[in-house]
Amino acid sequence: MALNACELEIDLFCRGLRVPSDVSLEGARGISRTRAGLGSGLEIVIPTRSWLKHDIWMNAPVTEDFAQGSPYVLQGSPGAGYSIYDRRGAQRYRVEVPREPPWYQRLTSRDVPMSRIGVLQGTYLGIYVNPVCAFWNYRPALNCRFCTTGKNVGGHEAAVKTVDDVVETCRAAKEGSGVTFVHFNGGFQGSRGLREAEPYVKAIKENVGLLVGVQLTPERDFRAYDRLIDLGVDHFSFCLELFDPEWFARICPGKAQTLGQSLFLEAMDYCASRLPRGAVSGEIIAGLEPVENTLAAIERITSVGAFPTVCVFRPTVGSDMEHWPPPDYDDMRRVMAAVYDACRRHRVPIGLAPNIDVSLVVNPDDAALLAPRTPGMLAYELWRRALRVVARPVFAKRMRATPRSPRSGPTSATRI
Ligand code: SF4
Repeated sequence: MALNACELEIDLFCRGLRVPSDVSLEGARGISRTRAGLGSGLEIVIPTRSWLKHDIWMNAPVTEDFAQGSPYVLQGSPGAGYSIYDRRGAQRYRVEVPREPPWYQRLTSRDVPMSRIGVLQGTYLGIYVNPVCAFWNYRPALNCRFCTTGKNVGGHEAAVKTVDDVVETCRAAKEGSGVTFVHFNGGFQGSRGLREAEPYVKAIKENVGLLVGVQLTPERDFRAYDRLIDLGVDHFSFCLELFDPEWFARICPGKAQTLGQSLFLEAMDYCASRLPRGAVSGEIIAGLEPVENTLAAIERITSVGAFPTVCVFRPTVGSDMEHWPPPDYDDMRRVMAAVYDACRRHRVPIGLAPNIDVSLVVNPDDAALLAPRTPGMLAYELWRRALRVVARPVFAKRMRATPRSPRSGPTSATRI
């Protein structure tokens, strides 16, 4: 039986996609080995043919060992279009392979290719702010075991990103690709991390006009979040990764030993209390710890009005876990259905901001396609649609470049 678009997305995350050598990917976005390595696959777009969501963006695993044995095979060409053929049930799914944007090849005024400053991950721009996550500097290294950041920054992407480089790249991405959201990520930077993000945030808000997200390891002094909120940050995400403390310590030794798991939850709770519902997220990896723990994490995150961003575990090439097995489809379908259900029950307004589709995870609103069509589900969908209309002018205003002093910046009280 044919899968719907979200089911196909989940199954591709679990089984990967084979790209035969005679299938041309000319003009497609290159495989981006950046950040934690989750962008190491092929960006594709799956049309949903559903009123619940138009398209699903995903980054399909193609380089990992497990993907070489996948039943899913990419067919087609740039001219004729692409489809994914499932050899098990002889199903065929039409997909798009997004083109590489012309601005990737442009140089910043420092002569750095813009693709080494930021990469599109779905429809948003991801930028790793330097320097490389400090967990990689410990001996022995304390990096998260699934991560490849320490091997990518300085290699596949620029080791130093000046504010000017970032502003020029963001402007090009906004003008050339219609990007609405830039996400600054940087792993562990010690206690100076959030302060070092401030000049980037300020410059983007003043000179480009984009929604801005920040994802760094949490800091104990929550005034750092207040400063960023006053500068106009729209979104914070906290990489909790694993909910069970023993799994957390095993897979994320740096986070466990230097910060402690509870700080991730406390910082998330604090930011969720300061920003509108749905502006903060807790990031978790599904497919490592028992599913019941993942479900408990989803419940915990949504209980404070945050939304879960759930990565399907990917044994990325070059990571310490590259030989681990990928997760099981039925487990991951259960998890993603729970994400949507928890967002609905806790009235978290998912999918509100314009044009943000994250290819590295199953977006919570992708998972609407998994939900039974109950009266509660339909009421939630109507509520989300009404909120989207109400929020449109608010987001439009926040995406306008607005030179201003930090003191006059917006606070959560002025926002949806
Ligand atoms: S905090 Fe962990 S996942 Fe994030 S960059 Fe550092 S090692 Fe990688």
